[in-house]
Amino acid sequence: MIGSIRREMTRRADARAVGAEGKRWVRSFIHVFRTLTEARIPKDETSLGKLIAEGKYCCVGQSHSYNGVQVIPGVTAMLMREGGLNAMSYDPVSQTVRVGASVSIRDLKTYLRDEHYRGLLNSGNYMEQSVIGALATGTHGFGPRAVMADSIVELTFLDGAGNRVTLSRGDPEFAHVALSFGTIAPIVELVLETKPLEPYISVSSMSRMSKLAELKQGAMAVNWAVMPYTDPNDPVIMLHVLSQCDKSQGPGAHPKASGSGKMAAWVLKHYYRLDRFLPRLRRAMQRFIDWLDLKQSERVITDPGDLDYLYDPKPGLKESRAPSITRGLFSTTFTGYNLAFFVPLEKAPAVVKFIMREADDLRDLGFYLKGIISVRELPDTAHPHFAANAHQPMAAIDLFADPRDYAWLERLQRLVMQYEPDTRPHFGKSALGPQFRDALGPDKLDALVRIHEKHYPQGNLMFSERVRALLDVGRPLPGEHAADSGLTS
Ligand SMILES: Cc1cc2nc3c(=O)[nH]c(=O)nc-3n(C[C@H](O)[C@H](O)[C@H](O)COP(=O)(O)OP(=O)(O)OC[C@H]3O[C@@H](n4cnc5c(N)ncnc54)[C@H](O)[C@@H]3O)c2cc1C
Repeated sequence: MIGSIRREMTRRADARAVGAEGKRWVRSFIHVFRTLTEARIPKDETSLGKLIAEGKYCCVGQSHSYNGVQVIPGVTAMLMREGGLNAMSYDPVSQTVRVGASVSIRDLKTYLRDEHYRGLLNSGNYMEQSVIGALATGTHGFGPRAVMADSIVELTFLDGAGNRVTLSRGDPEFAHVALSFGTIAPIVELVLETKPLEPYISVSSMSRMSKLAELKQGAMAVNWAVMPYTDPNDPVIMLHVLSQCDKSQGPGAHPKASGSGKMAAWVLKHYYRLDRFLPRLRRAMQRFIDWLDLKQSERVITDPGDLDYLYDPKPGLKESRAPSITRGLFSTTFTGYNLAFFVPLEKAPAVVKFIMREADDLRDLGFYLKGIISVRELPDTAHPHFAANAHQPMAAIDLFADPRDYAWLERLQRLVMQYEPDTRPHFGKSALGPQFRDALGPDKLDALVRIHEKHYPQGNLMFSERVRALLDVGRPLPGEHAADSGLTS
């Protein structure tokens, strides 16, 4: 009770602080990382240029990363999303959109849809983030061109002297800077590829992992969610696949569930509620669902004007309506801590089974995975060096737990990395640290440090301790502010 009141007071205080400069808290999503900071709100590029000359600073978008990559103690925080860099303009010749650092993904998608009937190549499943914050951390969806930063054709940042630097695809530094997790900042403007809006055939089904290959045949985009406490040898999965839609098919009614499908719909609907409010029953409920051995399939034609995640039959945003059965399980959890990483695509089923076993082993210590294990398939490769799929097709694995259990998720991440050395980080959700250096390429990381030093010789731009460890620069002494130890490698 007292905890709830405290949380509500914090929420209200944070809401009141929006738009205000001066001492303010910067908190990561779910508040696991936080710091009191001196906040500045850049009205335009000129004022931003002056602010960064004043002293040590970092850039914060919407502060929606879970892992605190945006939380840097002891420096001034430029709150980019609250600023006035709101440019948005579409070029019909190159079919690209120019977007400023204060624009959210929701605003950009709405603008593209309503003014030009176009969309982004891909996006994550939530849209309050700043476009630049999302791209800087490697935010992705699933299917072709899944990593959003892969659609950047040009970017402009301010260097340490406040001068504009523009890089385009093909420039030697571009592939490093296009996805650089706050080490090159502020990025003030991006130019992104867009695509025409079109409907897709979306099939979601409840099945078993052993049926995965068969069910996803011919699909252009695939994501699946595993119930972590069902049969560890052949777990229950919710599969969601998208395929191209023949225009002549038009939006048709989708078949209503019947027989075992109806039963599955009922059980899932009630499980979904119970899982939220009675987490202690999670394992027992999932074992029961496993025993029922339900099958369910639902096919819809998605609405081309849908703003969410490519798989909705209705326009607008799904948070404003109740989730449908199998689709509901893919929706974002706002109550759990989320940790994610990427493994080579073909290894995903084995890694998921490994995580299930490890998590189940921890349950006598009171640890439970929350909801589902989500797997989003990134079937092609991307240009930015630090994109998850820079070298090979990958699968993004998302784990959820109560905020107080976030450290158990870090342990699971470490175990997976021990067995699968090609595991790569999500820069807004993984526990970042030196253990990712080999997978990312020490030469590539060192080159990023050199690019940083070239553009920021004044040493004012700071980035989080976790990124410093990843880049092997500036080790603070115990008790010393990280910002005070500089950035020398
Ligand atoms: C509910 C929810 C759902 C999510 N869903 C997905 C998903 O489906 N897929 C996925 O991949 N991720 C997802 N994420 C993660 C999220 O997209 C990323 O963590 C993203 O970084 C958040 O953007 P932001 O604007 O909040 O950036 P912040 O968290 O504020 O900052 C992230 C990084 O970007 C840097 N940065 C910010 N602005 C600038 C700038 N102007 N110039 C240079 N650097 C800058 C910061 O310094 C920091 O390093 C989700 C997060 C939440 C909370």
